[in-house]
Amino acid sequence: MSIGANLHKIEEKLSDFIYTLVGVSKTKPNSYLEEAYQAGLRHFGENKVQELVQKQETLAQDIHWHMIGHLQSNKVKYIAPFIHLIHAVDSLKLLKEINKQAAKHQRVIGCLLQIHIAEEENKFGLGFEEAENLLLGGELSALKNIEIHGFMGMATNTDDQEQIRMEFRGLKLFFDDMNILVNHPQVKLAHLSMGMSGDYELALEEGSNMIRVGSAIFGSRG
Ligand SMILES: *Cc1c(COP(=O)(O)O)cnc(C)c1O
Repeated sequence: MSIGANLHKIEEKLSDFIYTLVGVSKTKPNSYLEEAYQAGLRHFGENKVQELVQKQETLAQDIHWHMIGHLQSNKVKYIAPFIHLIHAVDSLKLLKEINKQAAKHQRVIGCLLQIHIAEEENKFGLGFEEAENLLLGGELSALKNIEIHGFMGMATNTDDQEQIRMEFRGLKLFFDDMNILVNHPQVKLAHLSMGMSGDYELALEEGSNMIRVGSAIFGSRG
């Protein structure tokens, strides 16, 4: 198995779409990330703060790092100096902490609101209505060091392709609605982060423009 070959195979297959490919490198050693970097990958996603920080310190400085996992408020400070995009923001409390830490570094940090689209109860995320209230409420105006750049969603873990498609479609509709409805200088809904190794083609067909692909690039995580 070659990481570079996996990467190029995916890119070739998806050449009709416009998207950002985030290579999800969690649990994988630096040598794997270096191989992907050599093959041209510049966006990497991790889901644990400590691992993300360690990799950021050692690997190429022009990598765009994405925090894709659930983020605890007390850990925001470790990634605030460099993080490119935080995908799984699911509370105003977390947004406030990101804002505070971003301000310390004179940065504006892009955030995606994680929206709960799956059937399972145990996945994180805001409901459509909660997200809409957050976007339309007055709270964002005080948080000058964050911007909302879009949404992230994870479909139900099922073999039912039609169900997955409908969940992605629902989030795309919401994304389009909010783009029309919300007019706020700190809301720039550009990214729709949907699709992983098992469902990224489906996600792109349904309007995703940012896919988070781990095992299809780096191999299974055992
Ligand atoms: C692990 C993970 C991925 C990648 O999963 P694969 O199935 O290996 O592609 C994508 N998104 C999130 C939030 C993850 O935690």
